[in-house]
Amino acid sequence: MSSQTSTHEFQTETKKLLDIVIHSLYTDRDIFVRELISNGSDALEKMRHESLTKEEVFDAHVPLEITIDLDEKKHTMTITDSGIGMSRAELEINLGTIAHSGSGNFVAELAEAAQKDVSLIGQFGVGFYAAFMAAEKVTVQSRSWDGSEGNEWVSDGTGSFSIAECPGLHRGTRIILELKEDAYEYAEKWKVETIIKQYSAFVPFPIKLEGEVVNTVQALWTRSKSEITDEEYNDFYKFVGNAVDEPHFRLHFSADAPLAINALLFVPKENFENMGFGRVDPGVNLYCQRILIDQHSENILPEWLRFLKGVVDSEDLPLNISRQALQDNALVLKLRKVITKRFLKFLAEEARKDEDNYLDFWNTFGIFLKEGVTSDFEFQKELAALVRFESSRSEDGKPTSLTEYVERMGEGQDTIYYINGPNRAAIESGPYVEMFNKKNIEIIYTMEPIDDFVLNHLGEFDGKKLVSADRADLDLSAAGSEETKQDDEEKLDSEAGDELVSWLKKTLEDKVADVIESKRLVDSPAMIVNPDGFMTSSMERVMAASRMEKGMVPESSKKNLEINLASPLIKQLAGLVKSDESFAAEVAAQIFDNATIQAGLVVDPMAMVERNYKILQKAVGA
Ligand code: ADP
Repeated sequence: MSSQTSTHEFQTETKKLLDIVIHSLYTDRDIFVRELISNGSDALEKMRHESLTKEEVFDAHVPLEITIDLDEKKHTMTITDSGIGMSRAELEINLGTIAHSGSGNFVAELAEAAQKDVSLIGQFGVGFYAAFMAAEKVTVQSRSWDGSEGNEWVSDGTGSFSIAECPGLHRGTRIILELKEDAYEYAEKWKVETIIKQYSAFVPFPIKLEGEVVNTVQALWTRSKSEITDEEYNDFYKFVGNAVDEPHFRLHFSADAPLAINALLFVPKENFENMGFGRVDPGVNLYCQRILIDQHSENILPEWLRFLKGVVDSEDLPLNISRQALQDNALVLKLRKVITKRFLKFLAEEARKDEDNYLDFWNTFGIFLKEGVTSDFEFQKELAALVRFESSRSEDGKPTSLTEYVERMGEGQDTIYYINGPNRAAIESGPYVEMFNKKNIEIIYTMEPIDDFVLNHLGEFDGKKLVSADRADLDLSAAGSEETKQDDEEKLDSEAGDELVSWLKKTLEDKVADVIESKRLVDSPAMIVNPDGFMTSSMERVMAASRMEKGMVPESSKKNLEINLASPLIKQLAGLVKSDESFAAEVAAQIFDNATIQAGLVVDPMAMVERNYKILQKAVGA
């Protein structure tokens, strides 16, 4: 070993990743070619950007391209790029650790995915380490664009790698793969050419295979729509989105004013966040005059559109803008607004054209639009028209829009109502919908924890207020089709009613803010309502859970208990107060707990069960 050679252990996570790559990934092996070409292309993009912003770069005359040389006799494949290259320190860090944020999770998720469905691996992008799918030994020679001396990195992918000086290199990176015996075919030209055509057709630099350029360098998004075939669009999607399937939607648009924009955006079929892969990185790249300025840009679209894949190109951006300067650049903000509005308009059009297809999209990506409503005030109006919820009038599993709800609203109704619950059946058997059903008023069912926040943030739609049915001040007297005076014959008379209400207030003093005679219960004896017009029970539950997660004590506010003076149980309770007050107090506490559970809120289960047994014992006469 010469004095300039150093040996390094791979980081633990890298070892695990290499182990998966070497031992479990045999199908879809071709992707290693894509991964290495894509790294080369990234390095070339960076080089192109640097040469625009820096005065001097090393080896400025070397053309920006990728070359691939094969040796069938020696069983090697060599991929060379004239990109930015890597210094010694960069070789050690970049090719020894996993840069991916939360790399621990990444490897665990990858291991799981590898067991389930190997085709998912392509989506993960295992990057450089994919080389070990086909090679038993990998040599990386690299020289940075800063002109410092070059180095050679060598490893067999097991425990460690070495780095030694390597004089006389040009700028860029050369990767030499000594192929495994069962991977010799990757030294054959036809094989490699097929893979490049399949996966790397849109790489924006010439790829020379054995001296011959095998791709056509073109920026698809700058071509006219009418000239592009579906197949070209789909191939481009696979390229830009690292995808294996076809997109659900695509939007290709150009504008000259107020800004010059060429954008090609794709909605994938799958939501990877839903599949337990953690938060996805943004998938849209920002270009200026076909030159990549910001890959996976965090600036060009709002965070909640991170599921989109594609390209935005604007000639109006200064070519030499640095990535940091993009963040609060006024032009970028303007671009973001224009593109976001255009995309939301596109979704509205798609929904109009084919609601079922839109619902497929909604079921997969609706959660992102909901995130948009709660985090981004700017696009609320557009988003409000795109949200979908189930309701008492919608079919099971087929949500409806707020626009349709408003169209169905009856005379005298000026409010849109909603109620949260874990599922349709639970909501429909609960107390909150009773009067809505009786009066034939549609009510939206919110079944996801975020939903009440979404509707709360919207506040209103089309001039109609959005109101949760668990609000204490809800007044349904003017709305609906049926006049519903409760039959006074059946009700507890007003004196006995008042007496019971005050007794309950006293008995449940520690638990409730107030006890009120209900004007909207039909069958249920009681229900919990929120005196605070802002919070709903569902929101309180979410916030309590989040406080507990942070190790804090969950806060709960006191609620109002509404009682139904026509309910047989409540009527009997009035009598029981007179004959056996202490037992009546147990029953009252149980009624309160039951209503609390129906509101989706938490009760003390031990105390509740103990009390429940006491009551049952009495009921069976024990
Ligand atoms: P990723 O490309 O997803 O970041 P990789 O494992 O493929 O992950 O590569 C890790 C890092 O190594 C890259 O981010 C890049 O900085 C560096 N790298 C890889 N290949 C090259 C190359 N051909 N030229 C310059 N840098 C490279």
